Amino acid sequence: MIIKDNIDEFYSYLTDAGNLKGYAVKLFLPESINELNETVNFCFLNNLNITMSGAGTGTTGGRVALDGVIISSEKLNKIISFDEKKLLIEVESGVTLNQIYDFLADKNCFYAPNPTESNSTIGGNIANNSSGARSFKYGPTRNYIQKLEIILSNGDVLNLDRNQKANDNIYEIIGNSGRSYKFQIPNFEYPKTKNSTGYFLNDGMDLIDLFIGNEGTLGIISKVTLKLTEKPENILGFLAFFENYESSLEFVNYLRNQKTNQNEKLCRLIEFFDFHSLALINKKMQSIPKLAQAAIWFEIESNHENSDAIIEDIFTKIQEFTNLADDTILAQSQNEHRLLTDFRHALPLEVNDIVSKSGFRKIGTDTAVPEKYFKEFFEFMNSTFINSGIEYVIFGHIGDCHLHGNLFPKNQTQFEIALEIYKEIIKKTIEFKGSVSAEHGIGKIKKQYFEMMIGADNINKMKEIKKIFDEKNILGIGNLF
Ligand SMILES: Cc1cc2nc3c(=O)[nH]c(=O)nc-3n(C[C@H](O)[C@H](O)[C@H](O)COP(=O)(O)OP(=O)(O)OC[C@H]3O[C@@H](n4cnc5c(N)ncnc54)[C@H](O)[C@@H]3O)c2cc1C
Repeated sequence: MIIKDNIDEFYSYLTDAGNLKGYAVKLFLPESINELNETVNFCFLNNLNITMSGAGTGTTGGRVALDGVIISSEKLNKIISFDEKKLLIEVESGVTLNQIYDFLADKNCFYAPNPTESNSTIGGNIANNSSGARSFKYGPTRNYIQKLEIILSNGDVLNLDRNQKANDNIYEIIGNSGRSYKFQIPNFEYPKTKNSTGYFLNDGMDLIDLFIGNEGTLGIISKVTLKLTEKPENILGFLAFFENYESSLEFVNYLRNQKTNQNEKLCRLIEFFDFHSLALINKKMQSIPKLAQAAIWFEIESNHENSDAIIEDIFTKIQEFTNLADDTILAQSQNEHRLLTDFRHALPLEVNDIVSKSGFRKIGTDTAVPEKYFKEFFEFMNSTFINSGIEYVIFGHIGDCHLHGNLFPKNQTQFEIALEIYKEIIKKTIEFKGSVSAEHGIGKIKKQYFEMMIGADNINKMKEIKKIFDEKNILGIGNLF
């Protein structure tokens, strides 16, 4: 195992894509699950705080240690087994999305959740219950976790299977040591939107769900079995441009409610780009029409028989909403799809680049609201951003009423104004019964908003649950609360 105790040699592990800076005394890079287990035991005996690190693409400081040691999963990168018939793949937690995509490229199935940053690890995705554009149809990471192996801070190992249920409001799991971890499930009401805020707790819940979205605070994910989905025969991608926001939002309303003959959602993803986003990525894609104020990227799964009819119907529909219909980009081949995926991916990369050059930490919303409030919410965010005079972009998962509004303050005064604006957006989200973090998690930078959303009493209930699994309180310190 590689161990680094000279901070200059592991400096890059002391931050993440959100640009928060941290500190640690040591970095461990275990090369097997046994070594991971040994490292955890060593830390427990020596009362060392442990922060787990995946690929560091998180945006909320989750992997940024404040003290103690960092354990990186990057050498735990083996694909353990694959069962094409049962549509299951078992991997170590440091395996990246790119590794999974490459492995499945020539198979007849795919891993449905697709957080935009494919360098991220599956462990990081599970710890944050990450989502991607395709979550519009397929849901978040949570829905694709069949089995989890968790190492607790005391070294005990939990093997969780999707079919194990909580009973009569009691959560109970027995560790490999024979020890029981048990508590009464508190009654929480979660937003009925995409959500990545703290522990998942529900009467009758699957035991495994507690460990999805816990942000490295309850246990360390060592191994996971993921559920796969059969590949569709064909995928149609569209990038449509609009002369104003109103018509783009109306078009999204239309798309959101379209169903297939099997009564499934017609689109598997619906993504939004505002004018400023288009300006930011214009360098990479010259085919953006000059009059475009907004764009919508969407994908539809089809087969060889119905593809032409779908394309014709969609083009007719687009013409009803925009005069820029002729500029619509259609993707069918792998290269054409890659162009649209790269276009979407370029945006958060540009955003993170601006943030890291600015020297300020990221101020980007990750909120989702119920559909009935979305238009009002969008108008509130857009007008507040315009009035601030601070540069910004708004883009993201509009199918799920979940947008990323990023402000780019240039000096301390603008930074403080941006923080106030952020708080206003959070208040509006809570007023509309939405989630203050739909996919990026709470980490270290969104704790006050998490508390605004669920209240101090509920935070205390979560802290009590943490004590049951992490008796010395050494895991993921500073995350969530
Ligand atoms: C360009 C860009 C685009 C992005 N797009 C999306 C998106 O579309 N959707 C989305 O949801 N997110 C997105 N993100 C955020 C980020 O990619 C996700 O949060 C991702 O899941 C983080 O994975 P990671 O491996 O980088 O984890 P890290 O950043 O290293 O860690 C994230 C959290 O997971 C914990 N953790 C990591 N590994 C383990 C483990 N083995 N056991 C226990 N805890 C662990 C860490 O302690 C930390 O709290 C984006 C980020 C970037 C930079």
